Amino acid sequence: MYYVQKTIEISAAHNLSLSYESKCEALHGHNWIIVVYCRAKELNRDGIVTDFTHIKRVVKETFDHQYINEVLNPGLTPGDEGYINPSAENIARWICDHVDNCYKVSVQESEGNIAIYERD
Ligand SMILES: [Zn+2]
Repeated sequence: MYYVQKTIEISAAHNLSLSYESKCEALHGHNWIIVVYCRAKELNRDGIVTDFTHIKRVVKETFDHQYINEVLNPGLTPGDEGYINPSAENIARWICDHVDNCYKVSVQESEGNIAIYERD
């Protein structure tokens, strides 16, 4: 098995819809540190698992200096069917679903607070 791992830092804002009172419901930002893990049993014809530039494009160009609620939910508002609450866990899942050969993503919201999504 071949593996690649890429770490990307972005600045972005979000606010969460929660079933309990939390300061996270107010609009706020983080300097997120995102680690993307990809793997493949066989290398592609270029001899790589996943192009680092592809990973950067998906993460940095999608999220950097953006309002994550709108990125994950174009045209939707909280309460709409299919609305994705932009938690670190859901961001990790979204990235994993959009990067070729990705099986795991960790999203650090602030130092010591990290959410990880890993495909079964
Ligand atoms: Zn937050």
